[in-house]
Amino acid sequence: MASAPSNTNVRNFVRIDSCLCKGCKVCVETCPKHCLVIGSKMNQLGYQYARFEKETCTACGLCFYSCPEPGAITVYRNEPADREDV
Ligand code: SF4
Ligand code: SF4
Repeated sequence: MASAPSNTNVRNFVRIDSCLCKGCKVCVETCPKHCLVIGSKMNQLGYQYARFEKETCTACGLCFYSCPEPGAITVYRNEPADREDV
């Protein structure tokens, strides 16, 4: 019997555009896996922006759909593990 494909070389990834984020925390509170945090750095608008922190992300998209700022969040499903963070 063939074995199931290994998932060890893939991961989900969320990119937060720090220029567009207004630090409202909606995504942080929405994420069921607690993958997002508000960082200590400020963007050029003076907002402390969200950061993707954990790789327990399931790529459910809830953060994307809950964010009020268009384009601030991009969810990547099963990106290769060697992909450089953007
Ligand atoms: S895609 Fe889902 S699990 Fe991943 S960070 Fe967003 S809300 Fe959390
Ligand atoms: S919901 Fe959007 S604007 Fe609010 S903290 Fe998250 S990324 Fe930033």
